[in-house]
Amino acid sequence: MKIEILEKNDTNLRIIVRDADVPLMNALRRLALAEVPCMAIEEVVMIENSSILQDEIIAHRLGLTPLKTDLDAYNLPEECECQSEFGCPQCRVTLTLDAEAKEGTRTVYSGEIISENPEIVPVSDKVPIIKLAKNQKLKLEAYARLGRGKNHAKWQPVSMCAYKYYPKITPPAEKCEGCSKCADICPKKVLTVKDDKVDVRDLLACNLCMDCVEACPQKPSPLKIEWEKNAFILNIESTGVLPPERVLKEATKLLGKQLNEFEEQIKAEQS
Ligand SMILES: [Zn+2]
Repeated sequence: MKIEILEKNDTNLRIIVRDADVPLMNALRRLALAEVPCMAIEEVVMIENSSILQDEIIAHRLGLTPLKTDLDAYNLPEECECQSEFGCPQCRVTLTLDAEAKEGTRTVYSGEIISENPEIVPVSDKVPIIKLAKNQKLKLEAYARLGRGKNHAKWQPVSMCAYKYYPKITPPAEKCEGCSKCADICPKKVLTVKDDKVDVRDLLACNLCMDCVEACPQKPSPLKIEWEKNAFILNIESTGVLPPERVLKEATKLLGKQLNEFEEQIKAEQS
């Protein structure tokens, strides 16, 4: 298998994967979405809430606030040695919020949440939690835990994880009518037409919609759109809780682990 990085930054990873197949790519995609763990607030103890929002709505908003995750320092509650429903320092992080609108109406942002571990803090300081009117108060203690996206979307480390076939476009070898209908209809502006000749401007943008072939007045169209069977473009966009390359690494680790478990089960059944 060969991997080529197209784009990589704090939240986005775009790679070309060659010599792979659909089941593998789909397994990785689903593992990244539903199985790679990350931190999220699971329990909230309200100490004071004189705002107009109910406790449950505030707790829900806090749960969906992405938290930076340290996968190496914490255990999943179900795998933690403590086996306690309440959790221990190895499987739980305590965060507090104490906000009051003294001067007048104001918005409370995620940046005001104080964590006992400076590594486990909201990804962004700018997530609005609640708007408080003058003299309203919100005081709470929240407990964050590792969890998986299959149980709740708040534990999904990616906002997007998708793959597509690697496109293969063969423009007509000869000059055509040069009507440029194929280039005009393409939403991604993949093709250009110059001097009655069709050319590929941005191959990787093609999502194989075939609109260009249908728009061509010549039937059958001399323009050929195909895809490579064993090459894919994989795009992982992290919510910021984990670097996208770490999400991919964890997904591959989980795939290996699940296959090992499957093999053990087969062996146990045979013996
Ligand atoms: Zn524990």
